[in-house]
Parts: sequence; structure tokens; C-alpha cells
Amino acid sequence: MDDRPAARVGLVSLGCPKALVDSERIITQLRAEGYELSKTYAGADVVIVNTCGFLDSAKAESLQAIGEAMAENGKVVVTGCMGAQPELIRDKFPDVLAITGPQAYESVVGAVHQAVPPRHDPYMDLVPPQGLRLTPRHYAYLKISEGCNNRCSFCIIPQLRGDLVSRPAGDVLREAEKLVKAGVKELLVISQDTSAYGVDVKYAESRWQDREVRTKFLDLCRELGTLGAWTRLHYVYPYPHVDEAIPLMAEGKILPYLDIPLQHASPNVLRAMKRPAHQEKTLERIRRWREICPDITVRSTFITGFPGETDADFEMMLDWLDEAQLDRVGCFPYEPVSGAPANDLAAPVPEEIKLERHRRFMEKQEEISAQKLEAKIGKTLDVIIDEADDGGAQGRTKGDAPEIDGLVHIRTRKKLASGDIVSVKIEDADEHDLFGVA
Ligand code: SF4
Repeated sequence: MDDRPAARVGLVSLGCPKALVDSERIITQLRAEGYELSKTYAGADVVIVNTCGFLDSAKAESLQAIGEAMAENGKVVVTGCMGAQPELIRDKFPDVLAITGPQAYESVVGAVHQAVPPRHDPYMDLVPPQGLRLTPRHYAYLKISEGCNNRCSFCIIPQLRGDLVSRPAGDVLREAEKLVKAGVKELLVISQDTSAYGVDVKYAESRWQDREVRTKFLDLCRELGTLGAWTRLHYVYPYPHVDEAIPLMAEGKILPYLDIPLQHASPNVLRAMKRPAHQEKTLERIRRWREICPDITVRSTFITGFPGETDADFEMMLDWLDEAQLDRVGCFPYEPVSGAPANDLAAPVPEEIKLERHRRFMEKQEEISAQKLEAKIGKTLDVIIDEADDGGAQGRTKGDAPEIDGLVHIRTRKKLASGDIVSVKIEDADEHDLFGVA
């Protein structure tokens, strides 16, 4: 047996849930090889910085994190989206040990091996079967594919992460099953384009349990719905076949929740953005979804001040929002991404107009959201507990995803723990959160 002390790896994980899943895979692999994780730079033999390179502000944050790791530790491996533009990193930090792109798990692990060789102990099983995770124990992100076949004009993700590569349905389902066995109560399905799942492999079948399952959006939803955990769908573009998943929501198989990043409502802007499924009569569809599944929560994100957006385009988006009455909405003033074609499409919208439109958009949404939440007062809803102490608990309804949506603040004498699912009588609401008693 090798009796050197275990090598310790520090990790800084920036960016979106997809990057977080990459970080989880890297640490799972390293832990399996005998590395320990260090919470501090000082205690680490090498530090991995998983970067985000989507917006210029995210790049700046990533460079700052690399700078801190270099200053405080000095042995740094850089990975993630910004790794696809190594010159930006090398210019500032010529001494980083290695730079690898997103999903390059083996290269990251290889760079760590070079910096500090693993200590191998064949008698220890260091990794639980479900892998190591960076989210709380009761929910987990389930990444079903990498990359993206779309070419939205404001986005460089396909340049960074390549075209769509779907994981076989059997693999995804086995991972989901292990997570549920390990105590996960909520699975958050993520990818760049969830409803395109399987297009790249022509919906090939793969084996799971006693059957063949197609690598296809609806089939995956149906099978995930058999696992007994909450299944929440993120990054779903409204291709026509998404309609088929709504009955599964109405039947309680998967959560009545759709995160659809629409980004705009004006056909001119959507065309300039080259958004997928932008001609799919979304308003009518949302109406129909609500008929089939009245409890459905529709969440979306929008951009104000996209290059060339006129007053009329913006007003159209406000009117659309009035009609659509979406439950949850995020909105961002347009921020140019270096290398994205959108920057050259039209003259940029002046900063103050972008921000003014953002303010007006959010004002309208807050009114809608406040009304929607007020309508829940008096109802009894299932709530998953995120945190609990002697004074009460905090959780989320089926309509609230972690990090991005609202919370339920609960008064209770019950001894609750995170991951419990309890009935809560809703007593009050504001424009973001609910308040109730269990
Ligand atoms: S769908 Fe569009 S915004 Fe999303 S990753 Fe693909 S190209 Fe980028």
C-alpha cells in the first residue's frame, strides 16, 4: 500500500449548472483516484479553476479567480468554457500549469496527475456509487447532453462546447437511479437544449432495466417519471413535440414546470437572434398547456436592448408578457459577448435605453408575479424543504427551481429536514416568495 499522504486538490467552480456538473465529474474522478479535496488554497497541492466564458463579465470574474488562485497557491489548472480561448489566460497568467476546454475531464485529470501524482489505495472505496456532488444532498443536476446545434447570434457556446452530443438514455437513467437511491429527491434536467435531446443520435435506443429506451425527450421524461423523485425540466425550447410532455405533468409523473428561455417576443428580434423554435406560436401553446395542466409553472428569460431592438419591438415584448402572464421571469440587459455575431448586426442600443427597458419589463413582471403568488394564498401546496432549524424552515413548491425562483418561508413546530416534502398552507405572499404554515 502507498503510505504517502493523500494529495489535496482545491476547486473553484464558476458559471452555470452545466459547468457545475463538469466540476462534479472531475472531483468524482479525482476522489476515486485517492485525491482529497481541500477547502483552502493553502491546504491544496494544486487548484483547479473551472471557468465561465459566456459573457465578458463572466470572463473577468474567471480571470480574477485564476489570479487569486495563482497568488495564493501558484499551482493552477484552468478548465471550462474560458479554456477554449487559452490565449486570454496565457497572456495574463503565463505560469498556469495547464489550460483545457469544457468537458475535457481527462485532460484536467491528466494535468492534476502531472502536478501531483495520485496516491493509490486499492482497498478503499472512496467514491459513493452516485459520484460526488456540489449541490445539497436532496437535489441534483442531471446533464443529459453536451454542446448545441443552434447558432443563436448572441451566443458562443457552440464555439466553446461544440455541437450537440446526447448521452445515451440508459446512461442518464442509471445515473438518475443512483442519485435517487442515494437520497436525491429532486432531479434537475439540464443541457443547452433539452428538447433536442437525442436528435444527434437519431433517437437511438439503449438498455435500461429490462427494456430499450429511446434517447428522446419524451421517452426520457416518461422514464424519469417512474423513479419517485421530482423531475424538473430546464432549457426546453418550444418545439412542437414539447406539447407531448404536458400530459405527463398533468398526471404528476414529472413536475408541472417548464423553463423555456424565450429571450424576446418580437419576430424581428427573434429572427436576428436566430432563436430555435421562434415561429412556434408560443402564446397559443402556453394557453393550451394551461388547459391541459392548470398547475403548470412557465418560467422564461428575456433580453432587453438586443442590437437593433426598436421601441416597437420592446413594446411588443411588454404586450406579449401581459398576454402570456408567465409565472417566473428573468430579464437581462443585452451584454455583448466577444466573438458573437450579434455585435455586428446593428448599432448597439444605448446603455440607458437598455436599462430603462429592463426596468420597465421587470416592473411589469413583478406585478404579474405578485398577482400569481397572491392567488396561491389559502391553498395547501407540496413543498420540498431546503433548510430547517428550530425557528422554522425554507423550501420550494413544485413551481420553484433552486437558485432561480422563489421560496416558501414556513412556520412550523415540526422537526423538518432538508429533502422532506411537506404540505404547507399558504398564508401570505409578496412579489417573489410565499409564507405559510406546516
Ligand atoms: S440554444 Fe442558442 S443560446 Fe443556447 S447554447 Fe445553443 S446557441 Fe447558445
